[in-house]
Amino acid sequence: MPALTLEHVNKKFGHATNEVTVLTDVNFEAEAGQVSLVIGPSGSGKSTFLTIAGGIQTPTAGEVRVEDQSLDQLAGKARDAMRLNKIGFILQAYNLIPYLSVKDQFALVDRVKPQGNLTPAELAKLLDQLGIANLTNQYPGELSGGQTQRVAIARALYQNPDIILADEPTAALDSDRVKVVGQLLHDLAKQHHKAIVVVTHDLRLQEFADKTYAIMDGKMTLA
Ligand code: ADP
Ligand code: MG
Repeated sequence: MPALTLEHVNKKFGHATNEVTVLTDVNFEAEAGQVSLVIGPSGSGKSTFLTIAGGIQTPTAGEVRVEDQSLDQLAGKARDAMRLNKIGFILQAYNLIPYLSVKDQFALVDRVKPQGNLTPAELAKLLDQLGIANLTNQYPGELSGGQTQRVAIARALYQNPDIILADEPTAALDSDRVKVVGQLLHDLAKQHHKAIVVVTHDLRLQEFADKTYAIMDGKMTLA
Protein backbone atom coordinates (compact mmCIF):
# COMPACT_ATOMS: atom_id res chain seq x y z
CA MET A 1 0.00 0.00 0.00
CA PRO A 2 1.39 3.46 -0.84
CA ALA A 3 2.09 5.76 2.12
CA LEU A 4 0.17 8.56 0.38
CA THR A 5 -2.35 8.40 -2.44
CA LEU A 6 -4.27 11.08 -4.34
CA GLU A 7 -7.02 9.88 -6.66
CA HIS A 8 -8.85 12.07 -9.16
CA VAL A 9 -8.16 15.21 -7.11
CA ASN A 10 -9.56 18.48 -8.39
CA LYS A 11 -9.19 21.87 -6.79
CA LYS A 12 -11.10 24.99 -7.75
CA PHE A 13 -11.08 28.37 -6.08
CA GLY A 14 -13.82 31.00 -6.31
CA HIS A 15 -17.30 30.78 -7.78
CA ALA A 16 -19.07 31.28 -11.08
CA THR A 17 -17.23 33.79 -13.27
CA ASN A 18 -14.35 34.01 -10.77
CA GLU A 19 -13.83 30.27 -10.65
CA VAL A 20 -10.31 29.04 -11.32
CA THR A 21 -9.33 25.41 -11.64
CA VAL A 22 -5.92 24.85 -10.07
CA LEU A 23 -5.71 21.04 -10.06
CA THR A 24 -7.33 18.76 -12.66
CA ASP A 25 -7.70 15.02 -12.07
CA VAL A 26 -4.44 14.61 -10.14
CA ASN A 27 -3.41 11.02 -9.49
CA PHE A 28 -0.34 10.48 -7.34
CA GLU A 29 1.28 7.83 -5.17
CA ALA A 30 4.22 8.08 -2.79
CA GLU A 31 5.83 4.96 -1.38
CA ALA A 32 7.72 4.55 1.87
CA GLY A 33 11.44 4.30 1.18
CA GLN A 34 11.24 6.56 -1.87
CA VAL A 35 11.74 10.18 -2.80
CA SER A 36 8.90 11.32 -5.07
CA LEU A 37 9.61 14.56 -6.88
CA VAL A 38 7.02 16.84 -8.48
CA ILE A 39 8.58 19.32 -10.87
CA GLY A 40 6.75 22.27 -12.33
CA PRO A 41 7.05 25.98 -12.97
CA SER A 42 5.72 28.73 -10.73
CA GLY A 43 1.92 28.82 -10.70
CA SER A 44 1.51 25.22 -11.89
CA GLY A 45 -0.24 24.12 -8.67
CA LYS A 46 2.64 22.61 -6.66
CA SER A 47 1.87 24.25 -3.31
CA THR A 48 -1.85 23.60 -3.70
CA PHE A 49 -1.11 19.94 -4.43
CA LEU A 50 1.21 19.61 -1.42
CA THR A 51 -1.16 21.27 1.08
CA ILE A 52 -4.02 19.04 -0.13
CA ALA A 53 -1.77 15.97 0.11
CA GLY A 54 -1.04 16.89 3.73
CA GLY A 55 -4.62 17.70 4.71
CA ILE A 56 -4.06 21.46 5.16
CA GLN A 57 -6.49 22.19 2.33
CA THR A 58 -9.35 20.00 1.16
CA PRO A 59 -9.88 19.03 -2.48
CA THR A 60 -12.99 20.12 -4.39
CA ALA A 61 -13.32 16.53 -5.59
CA GLY A 62 -11.36 13.31 -5.31
CA GLU A 63 -9.71 11.44 -2.48
CA VAL A 64 -6.53 11.72 -0.38
CA ARG A 65 -5.42 8.67 1.59
CA VAL A 66 -2.65 8.24 4.15
CA GLU A 67 -1.97 4.52 3.97
CA ASP A 68 -5.54 3.17 3.93
CA GLN A 69 -7.09 6.10 5.79
CA SER A 70 -9.13 8.52 3.71
CA LEU A 71 -8.57 12.06 4.99
CA ASP A 72 -12.13 13.22 4.34
CA GLN A 73 -13.44 10.50 6.62
CA LEU A 74 -11.51 11.98 9.53
CA ALA A 75 -13.14 14.67 11.66
CA GLY A 76 -11.15 17.78 12.69
CA LYS A 77 -9.38 16.44 15.78
CA ALA A 78 -8.59 13.03 14.33
CA ARG A 79 -7.22 14.69 11.22
CA ASP A 80 -5.01 17.01 13.30
CA ALA A 81 -3.69 14.04 15.28
CA MET A 82 -2.93 12.12 12.10
CA ARG A 83 -1.10 15.12 10.65
CA LEU A 84 0.92 15.64 13.82
CA ASN A 85 1.97 12.01 14.09
CA LYS A 86 2.43 11.03 10.47
CA ILE A 87 3.21 14.07 8.37
CA GLY A 88 6.08 16.56 8.51
CA PHE A 89 5.90 19.75 6.47
CA ILE A 90 8.75 21.78 5.12
CA LEU A 91 6.76 24.75 3.85
CA GLN A 92 7.83 27.66 1.68
CA ALA A 93 7.05 30.09 4.49
CA TYR A 94 9.35 27.92 6.69
CA ASN A 95 6.84 28.08 9.60
CA LEU A 96 9.45 29.02 12.20
CA ILE A 97 8.23 31.00 15.24
CA PRO A 98 9.97 34.42 15.19
CA TYR A 99 10.26 34.87 18.98
CA LEU A 100 11.78 31.45 19.66
CA SER A 101 15.48 30.62 19.36
CA VAL A 102 16.44 27.75 17.09
CA LYS A 103 16.72 25.29 19.99
CA ASP A 104 13.33 26.40 21.32
CA GLN A 105 11.74 25.67 17.95
CA PHE A 106 12.51 22.02 18.74
CA ALA A 107 11.38 22.36 22.37
CA LEU A 108 8.05 23.62 21.03
CA VAL A 109 7.67 20.44 18.98
CA ASP A 110 8.24 18.46 22.22
CA ARG A 111 5.41 20.33 23.88
CA VAL A 112 2.94 19.82 21.03
CA LYS A 113 4.06 16.24 20.39
CA PRO A 114 5.82 14.84 23.46
CA GLN A 115 6.65 11.42 22.03
CA GLY A 116 8.34 9.85 19.06
CA ASN A 117 10.69 12.74 18.24
CA LEU A 118 14.40 12.38 17.57
CA THR A 119 16.70 11.74 20.53
CA PRO A 120 19.07 14.56 21.57
CA ALA A 121 21.95 12.65 19.92
CA GLU A 122 19.99 12.20 16.69
CA LEU A 123 19.05 15.88 16.66
CA ALA A 124 22.68 16.88 17.24
CA LYS A 125 23.74 14.71 14.31
CA LEU A 126 21.04 16.19 12.07
CA LEU A 127 22.00 19.77 12.94
CA ASP A 128 25.62 18.92 12.25
CA GLN A 129 24.80 17.35 8.86
CA LEU A 130 22.88 20.48 7.92
CA GLY A 131 25.68 22.78 9.11
CA ILE A 132 23.49 24.59 11.66
CA ALA A 133 24.78 23.14 14.93
CA ASN A 134 26.28 26.52 15.85
CA LEU A 135 23.00 28.40 15.37
CA THR A 136 20.90 26.96 18.20
CA ASN A 137 20.83 30.19 20.23
CA GLN A 138 19.98 32.41 17.25
CA TYR A 139 16.50 33.73 16.44
CA PRO A 140 14.91 33.32 12.99
CA GLY A 141 15.39 37.03 12.28
CA GLU A 142 19.15 36.60 12.68
CA LEU A 143 19.42 33.80 10.11
CA SER A 144 20.14 34.01 6.39
CA GLY A 145 17.62 32.59 3.93
CA GLY A 146 19.60 29.40 3.50
CA GLN A 147 20.09 28.96 7.26
CA THR A 148 16.37 29.50 7.85
CA GLN A 149 15.60 26.90 5.26
CA ARG A 150 17.91 24.35 6.88
CA VAL A 151 16.44 25.01 10.36
CA ALA A 152 12.95 24.49 8.90
CA ILE A 153 14.11 21.21 7.36
CA ALA A 154 15.56 20.08 10.71
CA ARG A 155 12.37 21.08 12.53
CA ALA A 156 10.22 19.01 10.18
CA LEU A 157 12.53 16.00 10.46
CA TYR A 158 12.78 16.31 14.24
CA GLN A 159 9.23 15.04 14.75
CA ASN A 160 10.23 11.91 12.85
CA PRO A 161 7.13 11.62 10.64
CA ASP A 162 6.42 8.73 8.24
CA ILE A 163 5.69 11.16 5.42
CA ILE A 164 7.66 14.33 4.68
CA LEU A 165 6.15 16.94 2.39
CA ALA A 166 8.59 19.60 1.23
CA ASP A 167 7.73 22.75 -0.75
CA GLU A 168 10.74 24.11 -2.66
CA PRO A 169 13.15 23.04 0.12
CA THR A 170 16.23 24.13 -1.82
CA ALA A 171 15.06 27.46 -3.22
CA ALA A 172 17.51 29.53 -1.13
CA LEU A 173 20.47 27.13 -1.24
CA ASP A 174 23.68 27.04 -3.23
CA SER A 175 24.59 23.88 -5.14
CA ASP A 176 26.68 22.33 -2.34
CA ARG A 177 23.81 22.75 0.12
CA VAL A 178 21.35 21.38 -2.44
CA LYS A 179 23.45 18.21 -2.56
CA VAL A 180 23.46 17.95 1.25
CA VAL A 181 19.68 18.38 1.46
CA GLY A 182 19.01 16.08 -1.51
CA GLN A 183 21.25 13.38 -0.02
CA LEU A 184 19.66 13.79 3.42
CA LEU A 185 16.14 13.36 2.01
CA HIS A 186 17.35 10.38 -0.03
CA ASP A 187 18.97 8.78 3.05
CA LEU A 188 15.85 9.36 5.16
CA ALA A 189 13.83 7.51 2.55
CA LYS A 190 16.27 4.63 2.24
CA GLN A 191 17.56 4.20 5.78
CA HIS A 192 14.49 5.26 7.76
CA HIS A 193 11.83 4.10 5.30
CA LYS A 194 10.16 7.50 4.99
CA ALA A 195 7.94 8.58 2.13
CA ILE A 196 9.42 11.85 0.90
CA VAL A 197 7.48 14.15 -1.42
CA VAL A 198 9.23 17.21 -2.79
CA VAL A 199 7.61 19.82 -5.03
CA THR A 200 10.06 22.11 -6.75
CA HIS A 201 11.20 23.78 -9.92
CA ASP A 202 14.80 22.88 -8.94
CA LEU A 203 16.07 20.33 -11.47
CA ARG A 204 19.17 19.83 -9.30
CA LEU A 205 17.06 17.55 -7.05
CA GLN A 206 16.28 15.09 -9.82
CA GLU A 207 19.33 12.91 -9.16
CA PHE A 208 18.04 12.15 -5.64
CA ALA A 209 14.54 11.08 -6.74
CA ASP A 210 13.19 7.58 -7.21
CA LYS A 211 10.15 8.80 -9.10
CA THR A 212 9.49 12.09 -10.85
CA TYR A 213 6.17 13.65 -11.77
CA ALA A 214 5.74 16.75 -13.87
CA ILE A 215 3.00 19.26 -13.12
CA MET A 216 1.85 21.85 -15.63
CA ASP A 217 -1.29 24.00 -15.38
CA GLY A 218 -2.58 21.74 -12.61
CA LYS A 219 -2.22 18.50 -14.57
CA MET A 220 0.19 15.89 -13.27
CA THR A 221 1.97 13.26 -15.34
CA LEU A 222 4.50 10.63 -14.39
CA ALA A 223 7.73 11.69 -16.06
P1 ADP B 1 2.98 26.87 -7.39
O1 ADP B 1 3.24 26.44 -5.98
O2 ADP B 1 3.31 25.84 -8.41
O3 ADP B 1 3.63 28.17 -7.71
P2 ADP B 1 0.26 27.34 -6.46
O4 ADP B 1 -0.32 26.04 -6.06
O5 ADP B 1 0.74 28.25 -5.39
O6 ADP B 1 1.39 27.11 -7.56
O7 ADP B 1 -0.81 28.14 -7.32
C1 ADP B 1 -1.36 27.61 -8.51
C2 ADP B 1 -2.40 28.57 -9.06
O8 ADP B 1 -3.50 28.61 -8.16
C3 ADP B 1 -1.92 29.99 -9.21
O9 ADP B 1 -2.46 30.51 -10.38
C4 ADP B 1 -2.50 30.68 -8.00
O10 ADP B 1 -2.74 32.03 -8.26
C5 ADP B 1 -3.79 29.92 -7.77
N1 ADP B 1 -4.23 29.91 -6.36
C6 ADP B 1 -3.58 29.34 -5.34
N2 ADP B 1 -4.25 29.51 -4.18
C7 ADP B 1 -5.36 30.23 -4.49
C8 ADP B 1 -6.47 30.74 -3.74
N3 ADP B 1 -6.55 30.55 -2.43
N4 ADP B 1 -7.41 31.43 -4.42
C9 ADP B 1 -7.33 31.60 -5.77
N5 ADP B 1 -6.33 31.15 -6.51
C10 ADP B 1 -5.35 30.46 -5.91
MG1 MG C 1 4.46 27.16 -4.50
